[in-house]
Amino acid sequence: MDLKAHIRTIPDFPKPGILFYDISTLLAHAEAWRETVERLADAVRAYRPDVLAAIESRGFIFAAPVAYKLGIGFTMVRKVGKLPGAVVSHAYDLEYGSDTLQVAEGLVPAGSRVVLIDDLLATGGTAQASVQLLRKVGAEVAGAVFLIELMGLKGRARLDVPMTTLLGYE
Ligand code: IMP
Repeated sequence: MDLKAHIRTIPDFPKPGILFYDISTLLAHAEAWRETVERLADAVRAYRPDVLAAIESRGFIFAAPVAYKLGIGFTMVRKVGKLPGAVVSHAYDLEYGSDTLQVAEGLVPAGSRVVLIDDLLATGGTAQASVQLLRKVGAEVAGAVFLIELMGLKGRARLDVPMTTLLGYE
């Protein structure tokens, strides 16, 4: 099945000049959604994870059925201030300013093999910051899996873990 046929592009969202790759149409199509989950699960399984880590917020959508299929749990990597209780934080630089990602303390056992999952890899800044955060809690980041890779932005070069993407766009 051609999954690209189920992803629409929206010009000038969220800002003028940005072409937004929208997965809403794929999620709404039962067969395309099923096929996506199957293919993501195969890609994730290849890294033999103990646990998944999903990047807010669309990463959660994919992590949930994939973790269920593989019989493992998943942890949420969230923007600052969203998680209750004790958290571990990692601040990282953006083009203008900085941002912080957090995970709940104690949920990812030290030494566990973690696979990171998100909908889309653009510059790689978010994913690499997530890798660093997971290492801070003692995880071994075995790989990262994305549905979409915007290849022109060269995020792949920024990530220092093995990665798999299902759909590449120039
Ligand atoms: P990066 O940090 O530049 O790689 O951006 C990746 C993050 O931004 C991911 O969490 C994506 O969900 C989000 N993102 C960036 N561009 C798009 C897009 O065109 N469609 C959907 N999400 C996007």
